[in-house]
Amino acid sequence: MSIIFDDHKQFEYSIPVIVIGAGGCGLCAALAVKENNTDVLVIERDPTPLGTTAMSTGLIPGANTRLQREAGIADSPETFANDIMKKTKGETDPNIAICLARESSKTVEWLIDEYQIPLSLVDSFLYPGHSLMRMHGTPNRTGSELMGALCRAAEKSEIDILTNALVTDLYSDSTKRILGVRVLRSDGEIEEVGCDALILACCGFAGNPEMIEEYMPQIKDAEFFGHPGNKGDAIIWGKSLGAGLADISAYQGHGGLAAGRGVPILWPMIMEGAFQVNKNGRRFSDESKGYSEQAVEVVSQPDKIAWNIFDERLHSLMMEFEDYHNAIEAKAIVNAETITELSQLTNIDESALREVIKEVEEMVEGKREDDFGRDFTGKPKLSSPYYAVKVTGALFHTQGGLVVNEDARVLDKQGNTLPNIFAGGGSARGISGPSDWGYMAGNGLLTATTFGRLAGTAAAKLIEKFN
Ligand SMILES: Cc1cc2nc3c(=O)[nH]c(=O)nc-3n(C[C@H](O)[C@H](O)[C@H](O)COP(=O)(O)OP(=O)(O)OC[C@H]3O[C@@H](n4cnc5c(N)ncnc54)[C@H](O)[C@@H]3O)c2cc1C
Repeated sequence: MSIIFDDHKQFEYSIPVIVIGAGGCGLCAALAVKENNTDVLVIERDPTPLGTTAMSTGLIPGANTRLQREAGIADSPETFANDIMKKTKGETDPNIAICLARESSKTVEWLIDEYQIPLSLVDSFLYPGHSLMRMHGTPNRTGSELMGALCRAAEKSEIDILTNALVTDLYSDSTKRILGVRVLRSDGEIEEVGCDALILACCGFAGNPEMIEEYMPQIKDAEFFGHPGNKGDAIIWGKSLGAGLADISAYQGHGGLAAGRGVPILWPMIMEGAFQVNKNGRRFSDESKGYSEQAVEVVSQPDKIAWNIFDERLHSLMMEFEDYHNAIEAKAIVNAETITELSQLTNIDESALREVIKEVEEMVEGKREDDFGRDFTGKPKLSSPYYAVKVTGALFHTQGGLVVNEDARVLDKQGNTLPNIFAGGGSARGISGPSDWGYMAGNGLLTATTFGRLAGTAAAKLIEKFN
């Protein structure tokens, strides 16, 4: 992965805009380029456009969407930006936070109205950090459904996606204007394509163990549950071009990947009253702070595992999610009529299990303070039949990256725009602060879809200026 500087480089074939990566960011970017009457080519290393986006739950936050208004939820970009700043303890760029919060509802409505992406409001629970319900998802709440719908939209818009095509190098002139790309096809052929503007939508570096070791060693021993094709190419190229990098040690972890099953157990069950114990039946943290920071907590327990303890009410809540159905199918979920039976199924000492369930009941009743600071009041006590699932901590994707402005244009270290290069999604610096605790649900797809749309629009406008 390198930059080839050549002021005289000529290409046999050129297209106005090249997008590298056909995940959520790349496809939103391409749709936005095309609707601005500009030709675009998306180049994707895999045989099918999937990316991290297809592995995700596909939930996109939007503040003050018409779906929220119809549900009687009074949200605003300012409220959303406040939530982002609070979750990151003020350690993210406030201008980008308010920009994305403002643009978020436009993206959700743009996807529904222009491209028939079937999004509805998730109104059954609140994700950690969000003060209002603002997540929007496809009917089964899956990223594969979202990617299917985006691919259909791209096809309808006659967007070309070159698959089995790994971009290995970028051509640049001495002013750092990108002239084109070098592509390795799966049959070993090399192709070169010229462009007037380039959009980096090839995510972060979660699939690059050396970069993980360098930038976020605390999570290197956790299971990796992201897209293995994301090797940090955008960041490597950006560095060579003198681009600014920020929050490079930020990531989204997850403290609830079903152990040995590779299925995420989503956080609604925790937020609505489930709790985690280690194999000795002891709680070890405030699980409600967020699922990202919970990954290192779980990984530091004996055998790097925890058990989520819940009941029939929470089991029913989780049936909204396809991932949970997959967990049932994978036989990850156990259920028991009594605590004795639950102890046998989980191999957790019965008296420890009885004690922790009693402690949580006392916290629900407000008779006891949690040692870890979690507030259980307002949630019902767990009741028989009980359920449990063994989980481990995982790394999902990285959140730091190239510094961009409100048009998703890549900036150099001094804050000046590079001539014709844009980035979004996992390739750009997100809004999750510098570590694991700033990630709020939806930050991944917010930056993918909204920066994608903004990058596509701005790239098309930039080219219009050249011509
Ligand atoms: C289990 C899970 C659940 C999640 N749930 C949510 C959620 O509900 N809401 C949310 O907001 N976020 C969620 N996320 C995060 C979210 O999925 C990502 O932040 C988002 O999908 C990133 O989108 P992207 O387009 O930047 O990257 P990707 O979707 O990963 O796409 C990047 C593409 O670039 C390709 N590529 C890489 N390098 C090259 C190259 N050199 N040449 C050509 N192609 C290349 C890759 O093959 C890939 O297809 C979740 C993540 C995981 C793992």
